[in-house]
Amino acid sequence: MTKGIIIKNAYAMALLDAKNTVLKDASLLIEGNEIKKIYTKEESGEIENLAASGEYKLIDAAHNLVLPGFVNTHHHFYQIFTRNIPKMQDEKLFDWLIDLYDVWALLDEEWVRWSTLAALGELALTGCTATTDHHYVFPKGGERFIDTQFAAAEQIGMRFHATRGSMSRSKKDGGLPPDSVVQTEEDIMLDCERLINKYHDTSKHSMRKVALAPCSPFSVTPKLLEETAKFARTKKVKMHTHLCETNDEDDYCLKVYKLRPVDFMESVGWLGPDVWFAHSIYVNDAEIERMGKLGTGVAHCPSSNLRLGSGIAPVPKMLAHGVPVGIAVDGSASNDSSDMLGELRMALLVHRVGTGVSSMPAFDVFKMGCQHGARILDFNTSGEIAAGKAADIIMYDLDSIGYVGALHDPLSSILFAGFNHRVNYNITNGKIIVEKGVLKTFDERSIVENGNRIAERIVNRKYIDIKR
Ligand SMILES: [Zn+2]
Repeated sequence: MTKGIIIKNAYAMALLDAKNTVLKDASLLIEGNEIKKIYTKEESGEIENLAASGEYKLIDAAHNLVLPGFVNTHHHFYQIFTRNIPKMQDEKLFDWLIDLYDVWALLDEEWVRWSTLAALGELALTGCTATTDHHYVFPKGGERFIDTQFAAAEQIGMRFHATRGSMSRSKKDGGLPPDSVVQTEEDIMLDCERLINKYHDTSKHSMRKVALAPCSPFSVTPKLLEETAKFARTKKVKMHTHLCETNDEDDYCLKVYKLRPVDFMESVGWLGPDVWFAHSIYVNDAEIERMGKLGTGVAHCPSSNLRLGSGIAPVPKMLAHGVPVGIAVDGSASNDSSDMLGELRMALLVHRVGTGVSSMPAFDVFKMGCQHGARILDFNTSGEIAAGKAADIIMYDLDSIGYVGALHDPLSSILFAGFNHRVNYNITNGKIIVEKGVLKTFDERSIVENGNRIAERIVNRKYIDIKR
């Protein structure tokens, strides 16, 4: 057993502190699951002595950019096996959902286990050290899906904030999902309590948290939203849902509740620092201001929003009003990827079209991808390199053709240049989960083989018409 890890002599080390410090030739000492000390170039003698002690695992970072790991603030892991189905390639959100609900109704234990491993593997390999998942489909027999996810997250070694999603309002009650995937509100609340008691950990560098996450205003009842808010606040856990993703949702809320989505959510107790919404594209200026004042967070999912033609969220305005905005790959059937660095690049590019080329500087993207994400998921010791913070570190090897000529600004080079988003190293909670580009905690080949086998089984079993 070694005492920890020394990342030695980094080509560039981006701390992502308030001053955007990027150190040249610095080293990093990790002990246990914590960052112990940053050694500047001038202090390299000290780190040489420690390295010579033989008590630490040494990583040579001479060609590497070292930075805090990314935090993914919204996902639906189970969707991995329904990526890129031809029929759903060009559908808008509501049609896409209605077609896919029938497939997702077949969800089973094996599907949840391997899709979780696939999502976490892809996330880890593309720079993510902490993630959430919004799981809201619980057909009969699926009562332990979240437990399965926690077990998979432990195997991969990812910091994981699970959300206990829910759907209680099916077609017959004016909602969108079919009857077979909704649960009674009593069952939902009992399971929320069970999961919080079993997994929610509030220790300093917690690896496990639980939030409560009814799926959306059009798949649960106002009563469930209200009860969820009350219960979450009693238990001091966070709340999450989809909000303001499309114009159709605006129309739905105005028709059914006579309120715009944000007003409706406020009426059921769903605004505050303990809430984060996915998407938030169709929010007006007054709503953004309110969300900023109350510290309500947003998971920004630019690829999914472009993929479904939903729109571009007004993120620069949100940041200006103090809204915590994290970045998220969203469910893999609407991206259709869990490429975390790719999502940061998308966030860099998309706003330049809508609000001007200077509206989204690279540093703002990194702040969202790391610190804001960590704050939203309540992993408050992640997202920055500093002594005492969690040892969640990623490294990119810049000594390759994709970065040639782009090293004038090493941190931003991975957003503006590069075609391979695979990290060289991913260290999460002081443990190496990716080494030299290889996932160390699980066999990547077995994920590929089992995943493709299950994806094929799902489509065959359903006999769904996957053609366009
Ligand atoms: Zn989503």
